[in-house]
Amino acid sequence: MKCKLCHEDKPLVKSHIIPEFCYSEAYDSLHRLNELSTDPEVADKCFRQKGVRQRLLCVDCEQLFSRAEKYFRETLYQELERRLPDVPPTLHLSSLDYCRLRMFQLSVLWRAAVSDTEFFENVTLPAQDEANIRAIILSEHMDEPHVYPCVMVGLLTGEPGVPTMDGFLLKPERLESMNTTRYRFIFGGYAWFYILTTDESSIAHPELIVTKDGRLTVPVKIAKDMEFFQRLGADINK
Ligand SMILES: [Zn+2]
Repeated sequence: MKCKLCHEDKPLVKSHIIPEFCYSEAYDSLHRLNELSTDPEVADKCFRQKGVRQRLLCVDCEQLFSRAEKYFRETLYQELERRLPDVPPTLHLSSLDYCRLRMFQLSVLWRAAVSDTEFFENVTLPAQDEANIRAIILSEHMDEPHVYPCVMVGLLTGEPGVPTMDGFLLKPERLESMNTTRYRFIFGGYAWFYILTTDESSIAHPELIVTKDGRLTVPVKIAKDMEFFQRLGADINK
């Protein structure tokens, strides 16, 4: 079968789109967020089962993504947990590996886009953008920060016992605003806002994208205070 990344005819392996370790933690208090609604549509949107896997990639391409996942796991994953109990309202990170972080960010977006599973159905890239991102990933040359950037927002539950949201996943959504398409993913303790642009001037918050010298500013939010979680949990107080 043809590998979606290298386009070579090779045996394909079943792989995750969102890293497997992001599915591994399901805390009780997060279930409240997950299951707070009696609305079946909301329950549908929430996802915390064993992850979605699909045959997309050959072993070699899968390795490329495994290395990127490993980097995320060793750096930003559970960063909020490490800052407890006093997580600052904004994380100012430095010494990140620009290429590896960007590779991870783009690899999740690209895999979600080429997947045909229902969970990722809202992530559809125009053919040219898909081809561009595929080329960036294949070259392992991550280009400029404003080329398909991603803004990350750290998420806390606001609950005293289990404050971080590492085990929480939400079906990605496509957002349109000011002629710009964004995709919002929730996994690994962060909200990830991918901006479908290569134009620096169309990025509303350029200060929130990773710099080539490895600096990254991450706002930290209480999930329940964020508008989309409020919609999700509209009936929490019923
Ligand atoms: Zn391949």
